[in-house]
Amino acid sequence: MPAFVETVTGPLSVDDLGATLIHEHVVTGMPGWDTDANVPRWKRHDMMQIAKDKIAEMQDAGIHSMVDPCPSDLARDIEFSAEVSQATGFRIVAAAGLYNEFLGLNAYWKMRGTMGADVVQEMADAFITEITEGVNGSGVKPGIIKVATGSGSVTDYEGQVFAAATKAAIATDVPIITHTDDGVLGEDQQTMFAEGNLPSHRAMVGHCCGSNDHDYHWRLVEGGTYVGFDRFGLEVINSDVNRVKSILKLIERGASTRLMVAHDTVWCWLGKSFPVNPLWRPSRFSQDIIPMLRAGGATDQHIDDILVQNPRRYFAGEPLPPLD
Ligand SMILES: [Zn+2]
Repeated sequence: MPAFVETVTGPLSVDDLGATLIHEHVVTGMPGWDTDANVPRWKRHDMMQIAKDKIAEMQDAGIHSMVDPCPSDLARDIEFSAEVSQATGFRIVAAAGLYNEFLGLNAYWKMRGTMGADVVQEMADAFITEITEGVNGSGVKPGIIKVATGSGSVTDYEGQVFAAATKAAIATDVPIITHTDDGVLGEDQQTMFAEGNLPSHRAMVGHCCGSNDHDYHWRLVEGGTYVGFDRFGLEVINSDVNRVKSILKLIERGASTRLMVAHDTVWCWLGKSFPVNPLWRPSRFSQDIIPMLRAGGATDQHIDDILVQNPRRYFAGEPLPPLD
């Protein structure tokens, strides 16, 4: 089992991750944002200042590490993340992987398919090269693989990405983190991992807090992956009151060892921005949500599982403890 997690500044003992937010973004942009000539371009200095401010906010809130699961096709800037980490001492785990078909950048892979290439193997090889050698000659290595589905059903392209990610995760011993839309298709994702023989505890189904359906959440718990409640503060998608209710139901049934949390904040958004509310900040969970969970009966042990023990176990590849 891996005792180390690869951060953007090198390997870190999983025991040193500490309190970890499982899904925040330093830089993100949709493919093609730079075709909009009327979008102001970021200055590196301004980006660094924003990143430093966000990290100071998280550190003040008791957070030690974060995962930035930006896939390679959503303007991932792993070298900038390394600069941010070096400047602040804050640990960041970056990702290999590709986004969903609707909003990702998939023309190249579709073209390879039309040429008869083994697309799944080529994609897997690409992920493995990034994880073992670093991205684009920078030497900065991803420590996780990101995959995504949309709403509706899983597309053929997304099936290829999941199959490739599963191969690469098994070959490199890094875990997989997912995006779901509208709180659906988590079980389909689990099925794809199982078909590739990925141990279920090496994956986290993300954005499960897009659904308020406890039965759906429980089926995911029974499917053996981690379950991400990773959009706190994003009230345009769901309310935090609903998210807290859902987490408390899972905790009551003994599933605190299956949960990881974050906000999916984007610090430097490339392209025209979207409206944000002041609750959507990376200290929201520590400052506001933990007191709500405690008021609903969550204990220190539950909070420690969610923030510290589960991320450690996930990166270490430790089997899940029994539901208690
Ligand atoms: Zn995200």
